[in-house]
Amino acid sequence: MRDERPILGKIVIEGQMVCLTGLHIGARREAMKIGGIDLPVVRDPITEFPYVPGSSLKGKMRSLLERKMNKDFNANVGGVRIHSCSDENCEICRLFGSTPMREEGENIPSRLAVRDLFLTKDSKDKLEDIETGLRYTEWKFENAIDRITSAANPRQIERVPAGSVFQLEIIYTVENKEHLKEDLKNLFSAMRLLEDDYLGGHGSRGYGKVKFALSKIEYRKGDWYATGKNEYKREWQVKDIDEALAKIDSIADF
Ligand SMILES: [Zn+2]
Repeated sequence: MRDERPILGKIVIEGQMVCLTGLHIGARREAMKIGGIDLPVVRDPITEFPYVPGSSLKGKMRSLLERKMNKDFNANVGGVRIHSCSDENCEICRLFGSTPMREEGENIPSRLAVRDLFLTKDSKDKLEDIETGLRYTEWKFENAIDRITSAANPRQIERVPAGSVFQLEIIYTVENKEHLKEDLKNLFSAMRLLEDDYLGGHGSRGYGKVKFALSKIEYRKGDWYATGKNEYKREWQVKDIDEALAKIDSIADF
């Protein structure tokens, strides 16, 4: 069964992710070697601009959806408890993929691909000009107070400043038309849940509030990749998640 994974088409969702508060997606310190900062952000090694790994956004959407659907956290990936099963009808695992914990379990590849998110040109230009002592970012002291000794443990946390905008591209592979509507609905509701949650670290301190501004959704059928003919491709203009949700029936009818 699992061998049959036809690509009926791809649905490409484009837009932007706006940081409404400072965003901290951490890099391993030894990998970054940025002097003085305790908790640096992840950066593109070539351009040195901060970016958002697609896996960070995807992982957060998955975890929010797992909790909303009250799935059991039966797997442990790198010390983080997640839900993972080999039921091909599981709404979480068919959308986000699963790696079975037992040998006899089947691997379910993800239908979702979330590209790494890079800053828009406008945001790069603005961040070139800020003077914080760090390139394109700001830093903030946060105090953790020891509850027993009352000793303060101040740490410098680097963050992408509020107002920064990242390009967003999410690709959904259509494998089963029966699942299409529900998968898209789950994806968009995960994005909406995230808007009322946070991305990255230190959300309880106010970090990581994001908003999605969409631009378009394009359905490219399998035949389009072979022929390039316009009849196999259709596009919907959407500006936000509400509009995307309202277009699902029309997308599924194409
Ligand atoms: Zn599952």
